[in-house]
Amino acid sequence: IPTLSLLYKLNRIPLDSDQTPLYPPNAAHNDKISIIKGDITVLAIDAIVNAANEALLGGGGVDGAIHRAAGPDLYDECLTLGGCEAGDAKISNGYELPSKKIIHAVGPRYYALPASEAEAKLKSCYRKGLELAVEHGQKSIAFPAISTGVFSYPNAKACNDALGEVRKFLDGADGDKLERVIFCNFLQKDQDIYYQTVSKYFPPP
Ligand code: ADP
Repeated sequence: IPTLSLLYKLNRIPLDSDQTPLYPPNAAHNDKISIIKGDITVLAIDAIVNAANEALLGGGGVDGAIHRAAGPDLYDECLTLGGCEAGDAKISNGYELPSKKIIHAVGPRYYALPASEAEAKLKSCYRKGLELAVEHGQKSIAFPAISTGVFSYPNAKACNDALGEVRKFLDGADGDKLERVIFCNFLQKDQDIYYQTVSKYFPPP
């Protein structure tokens, strides 16, 4: 999986992007960030994040794909987790997945909340996901585009909120405990948005 450093070097992400950086360049961060397109359930890493719902018992979209791939033991463990509120996250084992852990984050339903609350909850999903990974000694983590499917969060805003929150975490006290943060997009639309936006938050050196 190529890192952002490599993507910049290969000019896969255009260096003349018109995105004005919001953060100073940090080459160490760029070595940790990946943007890929595909199925998150095939990643052999420490932790993948699920875009779950409050019940944590499976559903459609990425949630359904993760439950199908992980097998019925995941459902049994999820029964013991007691659900989860929007903006929060809980961790389980990965079972038949190649990833060791699953972090179940519940994104906001965009149109059920004032925009500022939806934003705070989406950012909180990313922050809690990263915190849980560190707390459990997991060094690599992949996020899907939380809330942008059935929960209707606008794609470009979700991308900005996700990248900004991850940048903040990597700049913080526990940032050095993570080795890789992967943004795993399923749709070409989101992949394009991430390529266009990433240099605002993780500028080339
Ligand atoms: P939410 O309810 O949080 O909106 P969805 O699962 O409906 O969650 O959608 C979140 C994102 O996950 C969407 O961009 C969707 O295309 C994507 N997605 C669906 N299946 C997968 C998968 N197997 N791997 C990664 N992302 C996926």
